[in-house]
Amino acid sequence: MIRPIEYTVLLEAPQTQTFQIRMRIRGVESGHLEVALPVWRQGKYAVINPASTIRSVTAENGAGKALAITKTDKTTWRIEPNGAAEVVVSYTVYANSLNDRTRHVDDTHAFLSGGAVFLYVPDRRNDAIAVHLDAPADWRVACGLKHEAGNPRTLLAPTYDVLIDSPIEIGLHDAFCFELDGKPHDVVVWGDARFDSDRIERDFAKIIKAEAAIFGDLPYDRYVFILHVSPGLRGGTEHLNSTVMQLPQRAFEDESQYKVLLSLTAHEMFHTWNVKRLRPAALSRVDLSKENYTDLLWFCEGTTSYYDELIPVRAGLVKPETYLADIAESIYQRRARPGTRVQSVAESSFDAWIKFNASSPDDVNAVVSYYDAGALISLVFDLELRRRSNNAASLDKLLRDMYERFPVEGPGFTTRDLIESATRLTGFRFEHFFQRYVYGTQRLPFEDLFDVAGLEMEAKDTEAHSYIGLLLQDENDACVVRSVLSDGPAYLAGVNPGDKIVSMNGRSFKAADLMVHVDRQMAPGDTVWLQILRRNRMRRIEFNLETKLNPRWNIRKVAAPTPEQKAAYSSWLGLDF
Ligand SMILES: [Zn+2]
Repeated sequence: MIRPIEYTVLLEAPQTQTFQIRMRIRGVESGHLEVALPVWRQGKYAVINPASTIRSVTAENGAGKALAITKTDKTTWRIEPNGAAEVVVSYTVYANSLNDRTRHVDDTHAFLSGGAVFLYVPDRRNDAIAVHLDAPADWRVACGLKHEAGNPRTLLAPTYDVLIDSPIEIGLHDAFCFELDGKPHDVVVWGDARFDSDRIERDFAKIIKAEAAIFGDLPYDRYVFILHVSPGLRGGTEHLNSTVMQLPQRAFEDESQYKVLLSLTAHEMFHTWNVKRLRPAALSRVDLSKENYTDLLWFCEGTTSYYDELIPVRAGLVKPETYLADIAESIYQRRARPGTRVQSVAESSFDAWIKFNASSPDDVNAVVSYYDAGALISLVFDLELRRRSNNAASLDKLLRDMYERFPVEGPGFTTRDLIESATRLTGFRFEHFFQRYVYGTQRLPFEDLFDVAGLEMEAKDTEAHSYIGLLLQDENDACVVRSVLSDGPAYLAGVNPGDKIVSMNGRSFKAADLMVHVDRQMAPGDTVWLQILRRNRMRRIEFNLETKLNPRWNIRKVAAPTPEQKAAYSSWLGLDF
């Protein structure tokens, strides 16, 4: 079948990490034609300019006659078709960006995330597309897209937006498939990995079932897990009916790494509903040429992160004690971070493009993660929904309500819709909650909330420890300041990120040892003398240690739970009290 736009991917010398793309555009009518590459990719709210690795862009008409082509901005080209109805644009792509999950080619595979490699015609994003893959004969294709009947190397996409939300993995990889609800789930593993496919199938299926129970459906015909395994890899990206998950070596053999994989799987799968279908208005029809602003990433990513820890508990893969200990640690970390009192999660969402996704040593004082902070606010939101409704409402029920009211083909939702849903489910007005914790930076009231599920917080250690307010790391045998916390004494004394601490009170230290020494051997009020090397000059900075009351916590069951508390615990964690 002839499609208005066809790409041919020519993987003739993958060992060079380059390949060619030939883009055939049919039905050209206008006096000139623009083609462009997106400046960002779905799932990562940062301008990354993938056009930086595109070169040798040429154009010709359908008969092979060269056409004039001019670059008009960093990511756009203008072609003069001279009346041609068919234009072919050819270009070379250098693909060596595995870690950001955009494009990577070598002699074992090609991983292509469409928005980083396929040019598009900005006013023809709704045209149907075919992609022909011309690759070594023994390479196999994995992709969420349908393929031409009998030809897995010709992929079909109804629109450009679907193409760029369906990454392509082609190469030498291990693969297996399992069925759930009659729907095939392909698992493809690229990289050196030994794994137990039965265990993965069993555990993935439990996770998917626990999530489908919240939303009430499996909104795809087929799902593809693309796993990349290589040293140092981590993280994943959600797509329409597929995901790319990146794992370090031994990810399947080491139990703590395997737990990370389960959480990552729960996260990326959860996006199948939250973000890929239920999505904010601002992310419904995105502008691919610039930033798209929303103050709801805390819900897109934070709520998804909340569930990526909770779902493995409900699926029976993680013990509730482990989960509660992880929450307690997150509460401690949040309260230790001065930025918590500066940036709200709504601001963190809106400014993701220039702050959270463009890190600075001062982030700890000025930025919160819409993932981590968003997850804790989602936990507070869940407990508050339960508390205000005698456990009749919950975040599960709010998600189901939103999912049903805001189908993917609609305009998307806003914060007002979230508040409206919470208010309707509980009969309690949620405006103040959002003002305080989503748009404001008020301390999250965990101490008052766990009671709804028959739990209580107990401080592990109420003693006042000495506080220096530095984050340190060892670099080339030197103890280097990574960040200076604005609520500690080193900040006003003038210690800066990048300073090398040659000695403290006359002794040299490794980074971790210095922190332990301050904590265990010194007291609030004690004087600290730092010998610091900054821009090749020695200087001496002196100040007194302070204290900061921020205990770590145990979250434990109350002694005499009521039936209501037991019921809330059980519907929250999916097991008996
Ligand atoms: Zn995510």
